[in-house]
Amino acid sequence: MRGGAVEVERAAREAGVDALPVAEGGAEAWLARYSSSVMGTYGVPQRVLVRGEGCWVWDADGKRYLDLLAGIATNALGHAHPLLVAAVTSQLATLGHVSNFFATVPQVALAERLLQVARAPEGSRVFFCNSGAEANEAAFKMARRTGRTKIVAAVDGFHGRTLGALALTHKQAYRAPFEPLPGGVEHVPYGDVGALGRAVDGATAAVFLEPVQGEGGVTPAPPGYLEAARAITRTHGALLVLDEVQTGIGRCGEWFAHQASEHGGVVPDVLTSAKGLGGGVPVGAAIAFGERTAALLGAGQHGTTFGGNPVAAAAGLATLHAIERDGVLEHVRRTGRHLRSGVEALGHPLVTGVRGAGLLLGIGLAEPVAPAVARHALAAGFIVNAVRPDTVRIAPPLVLTTDQADLFTAALPALLDAALAETTTAGGTP
Ligand code: PLP
Repeated sequence: MRGGAVEVERAAREAGVDALPVAEGGAEAWLARYSSSVMGTYGVPQRVLVRGEGCWVWDADGKRYLDLLAGIATNALGHAHPLLVAAVTSQLATLGHVSNFFATVPQVALAERLLQVARAPEGSRVFFCNSGAEANEAAFKMARRTGRTKIVAAVDGFHGRTLGALALTHKQAYRAPFEPLPGGVEHVPYGDVGALGRAVDGATAAVFLEPVQGEGGVTPAPPGYLEAARAITRTHGALLVLDEVQTGIGRCGEWFAHQASEHGGVVPDVLTSAKGLGGGVPVGAAIAFGERTAALLGAGQHGTTFGGNPVAAAAGLATLHAIERDGVLEHVRRTGRHLRSGVEALGHPLVTGVRGAGLLLGIGLAEPVAPAVARHALAAGFIVNAVRPDTVRIAPPLVLTTDQADLFTAALPALLDAALAETTTAGGTP
């Protein structure tokens, strides 16, 4: 037991609470307890993590890792950021939760701040929830309230695992066991303006798109695609919903990825956000642009107990404040360019290219060995993710330094070689 675990135990003792979990024993004991108590939806966890600081985390056996995944594009400020810790603890000590029969100061302040950073026009409104899937559920319900039922989403798009969000999500393996899903959703090839134009008509309620497909493999929208989607939806009176759950809150070097100049100033009707918004504390939001869209969900038509919870809202405020105060958007652009060019400059034969924007990067591989690369990376002290068999995803805390990025770049050739060697000894491509 080390570091944060020791502090948790001490704090628990001082508070006279025996029931708080403390990290007795090593990883093996905890993994055994995990498998007999936690549902198996995520498979076998790779490590038991007990503590984090900045871009580093430590496991139950005391080993340190450079976290290049950030809780899947979530811990925007890294681990244990002092401002986030102070905001959350002081809010919890002041007012931890009230129902939505009451307003709270952090909730209102976060809504106002989100409308600013989203550049939402007068009359826009925020619906708060707790996750990305829920933000998209809210957008789905807005779409239904237009009186139309047809929705167009993208092949390889990912919007969450609840039934409505799953209906928007393309991947058959996620959908098939739960059919029938809410109907009326058609998927068109991502980036294909012609296909989108043919799919959208006067019966279409909404088009759901990610500016960079994250779970689909870190695939950025081609230049002009979002603008074309805006023009097509406008022509037919359909809503344009941009899912920025993964790409927003600075991840791609802008507050929201669609604000980048290559998207030509596109303005959505609904913008969904979660992940980075709370810096690691669960909070989601669906932002309705303009009065008419904001009026689609009226009193009693949607809700959730925790939506706009003051502690979560305080976390959101602290995250947005730190991003602005510390110039994080510019830092993300710079560090992202640095990491990208560093990996490209390796000239490794397995690397076909680096895709993405800001600090949401996908390292494309010529062979489907990304899972092996991720496994070797973990053993070497780096957390990355095989988002697709041929793509390693890098989505670190936005505060990653160039020195930390260089640690990974320097280690990468050996990780790629080790992954390739496995396929060779196994007699070919796995
Ligand atoms: N939308 C996008 C683009 C995502 O990447 C994700 C999660 O990866 C979601 C929605 C679902 O978010 P959550 O897991 O918070 O429900």
